[in-house]
Amino acid sequence: MEIACLDLEGVLVPEIWIAFAEATGIESLRATTRDIPDYDVLMKQRLRILDEHNLKLSDIQKVIATLKPLDGAVDFVDWLRERFQVVILSDTFYEFSQPLMRQLGFPTLLCHRLIIDDSDRVVDYQLRQKDPKRQSVIALKSLYYRIIAAGDSYNDTTMLSEAHAGILFHAPDNVIREFPQFPAVHTFDALKQEFIKASSRKLTL
Ligand SMILES: [Mg+2]
Repeated sequence: MEIACLDLEGVLVPEIWIAFAEATGIESLRATTRDIPDYDVLMKQRLRILDEHNLKLSDIQKVIATLKPLDGAVDFVDWLRERFQVVILSDTFYEFSQPLMRQLGFPTLLCHRLIIDDSDRVVDYQLRQKDPKRQSVIALKSLYYRIIAAGDSYNDTTMLSEAHAGILFHAPDNVIREFPQFPAVHTFDALKQEFIKASSRKLTL
């Protein structure tokens, strides 16, 4: 039995914080795990910027409601779900994910949650656990599944290493250079081929 673990942002949907930075014109909100590998440092910076600009959860949700999955992502997820059990392992928050997950047909999503006060201000965030993507792969392996994982950034690399097979998708050059052990592809067609190659079953397109 095999499970496909997929990152969300940058793989299936746009980077939510970059979209929000573009909508608000706040340049400093463009930083992602590609730029700041330490997620806690990155999130603290984001929450501070939200406060400085008096931005609330609803302001972010309004932008997310306008986003669409990346071209080809819906078809890819449909293709994958016919061949694997699919689990999305993401560092996003349930408060953000709903409109995008609806468009993807609500695959299983393991992510984090935000802590919001009575005035809709984002006061903090709660990580589900430390190194959550890798821990999820460890947990699924303990159920005797074979895991094939794909992601685009630093926060995916422990998941890719822990999986039986890891694939970089849409990764920037610096990540591809630092992690040459993973095949790196840039189109959904090539990603399908990598999943077929990594599978222990005889799958076809
Ligand atoms: Mg990503």
